[in-house]
Amino acid sequence: MTSLPDDASRVAALPLRLAEVRARADAAARAAGRDPAEVRLLLAVKTMSPQVVRAAAEAGGLLLGHNRVQELVATAPALTDLPVSWHLIGPLQSNKVNAALRWVDCVQSVADLALARRLAERCVATDRELDVMVQVNVSGEPTKHGVVPDGAVALAAEVAALPRLHLVGLMTVGARSADLGLVRAGYARLRALRDEVLAGGAPGAAGALGLSMGMSGDLEAAVAEGATIVRLGSSVFGPRAG
Ligand SMILES: *Cc1c(COP(=O)(O)O)cnc(C)c1O
Repeated sequence: MTSLPDDASRVAALPLRLAEVRARADAAARAAGRDPAEVRLLLAVKTMSPQVVRAAAEAGGLLLGHNRVQELVATAPALTDLPVSWHLIGPLQSNKVNAALRWVDCVQSVADLALARRLAERCVATDRELDVMVQVNVSGEPTKHGVVPDGAVALAAEVAALPRLHLVGLMTVGARSADLGLVRAGYARLRALRDEVLAGGAPGAAGALGLSMGMSGDLEAAVAEGATIVRLGSSVFGPRAG
């Protein structure tokens, strides 16, 4: 087993790696007849040190995502001088809502109405707005967070109706499979659900255009199916522990 790269080598590799993933996303968009500008890269920074995250932001990676609130609150204060936007991309426990809201512009991982209500309540109490995405478990893998596909459209409508929350789309973590056809079918499913949400015309749901899907190994499949945000970790930062 080889050892993990240190911070200095991760930082040194960042500019080239960022350019590489941007080129992959651009090529995939063009191949699908899409405008590459429609696809944003979100850097999934879990386990990276604040120094490495800062270097990534300085290199242009200004859309950042954390899975765990604990790591978010340890990283975000080191970057307050940069115009970064934080998204939460992992499950949020109700006792961590206040801590998360201090830093995030978007919670992509809303998978139940109780959490959405709690977020809305806090936004009302603190007089702010919040973008949210409904996370859908398209692969059905039991370890994955997210509402079941059959419940996604109804949940999205309920979330969209809550005060102060802006439903901006749907998010999924794709199937963990080497079968890219299977992975891509999951992304197609998320896109179909997003289209259903829009067609349903629920109050507040007209802005639910976004699709956060695709990671380092399968971003091409996600962009081909309409991803507007791809979430990248290892392709930008190199291998990580856990
Ligand atoms: C870690 C993570 C990613 C990025 O995964 P890579 O395969 O390293 O690109 C994307 N989304 C979520 C929710 C993650 O936790």
